Amino acid sequence: MTDNKFSNLNIDQILAGFKNKTFSSFELASYYLARIKNDKLNAFISVNEHVLEEAKQADQKIAQGEMALLTGVPIAIKDILLVKGQRATGASKMLANYIAPYTATAVKRLEDQGAIILGKTNCDEFAMGSSNENSAFGPVLNPHDITRVPGGSSGGSAVAVAADLAPIALGTDTAGSSRQPASFCGLVGLKPSYGRVSRYGSMAMASSLDQIGPMAKSVKDAAYLLQVIAGKDKYDLSASYNTVPDYLNLLKTQDPHKLKVGLPKEYFSDALAPSIKQALDKTIDFLHEQNIVVEKVSLPYTEYALATYYILMPAELSSNLARFDGLRFGHHESNDLNLDDWYKKVRATGFSAESKRRIMLGTYILSAGYYDAYYKQAQKLRTVIKQDFQKVFTKVDVLLTPTTPTTAFKLDEKLSDPLSMYLADIFTVSANIAGICGLNLPMGVDENKLPIGIQLLADAFQEEKLFVLGNFIEQNII
Ligand code: GLN
Repeated sequence: MTDNKFSNLNIDQILAGFKNKTFSSFELASYYLARIKNDKLNAFISVNEHVLEEAKQADQKIAQGEMALLTGVPIAIKDILLVKGQRATGASKMLANYIAPYTATAVKRLEDQGAIILGKTNCDEFAMGSSNENSAFGPVLNPHDITRVPGGSSGGSAVAVAADLAPIALGTDTAGSSRQPASFCGLVGLKPSYGRVSRYGSMAMASSLDQIGPMAKSVKDAAYLLQVIAGKDKYDLSASYNTVPDYLNLLKTQDPHKLKVGLPKEYFSDALAPSIKQALDKTIDFLHEQNIVVEKVSLPYTEYALATYYILMPAELSSNLARFDGLRFGHHESNDLNLDDWYKKVRATGFSAESKRRIMLGTYILSAGYYDAYYKQAQKLRTVIKQDFQKVFTKVDVLLTPTTPTTAFKLDEKLSDPLSMYLADIFTVSANIAGICGLNLPMGVDENKLPIGIQLLADAFQEEKLFVLGNFIEQNII
């Protein structure tokens, strides 16, 4: 079943298949649907019941020559994003039976360009986690080694693409959740700049850090997705009015040799797994061979990024999750409880241990007397971390770093030790704090045949630089 005309297609190959009548959208959607039904990796929480009808309609459009950019192309959507009429659980017991009343802007734009939604992918509860083990629907397994995690929180989206259950997917990234699972599963994962993509219809985790991120098999596919989902939105005032560049055209026309690459010394510690260090060295050698300028730079406040995140994120998260009380949103309990008992019961039974831990942390951080000591200090650190990047981006265009300190770890390995789990984000989190963009690029495998990822970072609203350099590296050394 894997080795046929449908396997591992990218967007261009799918569009060519439709055009040349090698296959229809209906046949392609049927292929993915059959694979999703047989999936043993637990990548999906729900499947779109209307997908085959929608594929048929797409085929009619194709036959009539009424094609938009992604007409008939199937996509998987992280179950943090709303799709009208479909279940939206956030991988939480709280929303186990919730049906979305409207569609997230990013998804709506994909639909407007003709994409068809295969279903909603598993993830960590409300996007909290680095291993996809924190889901009310069970863990997701890594297709490269089923004893290992796929990364999180967008683990289901990563596995959907890596195991060829979908050609492309959307994830979300608050501290690394599209890049880190992309790295563990051998994919391209993008965190767009803050404000590049509307967050409307994305369940809020930490609103000042969240971005919806494309996950794909190639840089070009990620560019296709960003092209469609980016841009201003009257429903989200944090979505930028900056014009969206023609990424697909820039990918063809811009010269990667003109980009200057920086290596931030704080990201190249001895703690890095040797295989990841080698993958970075290989990339650096390639850049040298190509006469691309590579220079060492420094981001001195890097060491404070994770601590800053674990103050800002729980503070925002505790406010955002307050709506899940069984009255406004969330599962119901018996009606004869008084209000206090109702709250206690609903929140004790609806949230996982990780959510409770973070809600308590956030509530503490924001409480009178502690706000100044923690939240305000963290906001100041956020400013200096941002300034670090602003300075460095006056000298170089793109930073090259590892995405993660290790390749995929074992299931259960870090579950009982939240601090070691939190360290999985150490190289990805700064991009969210600073609001800049970042991309994971697969770069070979380690001694256990597990994918290795490297990260490219660029200043806010310069995603095209990530695409141009990423595509060049992908075409030449991957
Ligand atoms: N691992 C991070 C966390 O648990 C990532 C979250 C994310 O990017 N959504 O908070």
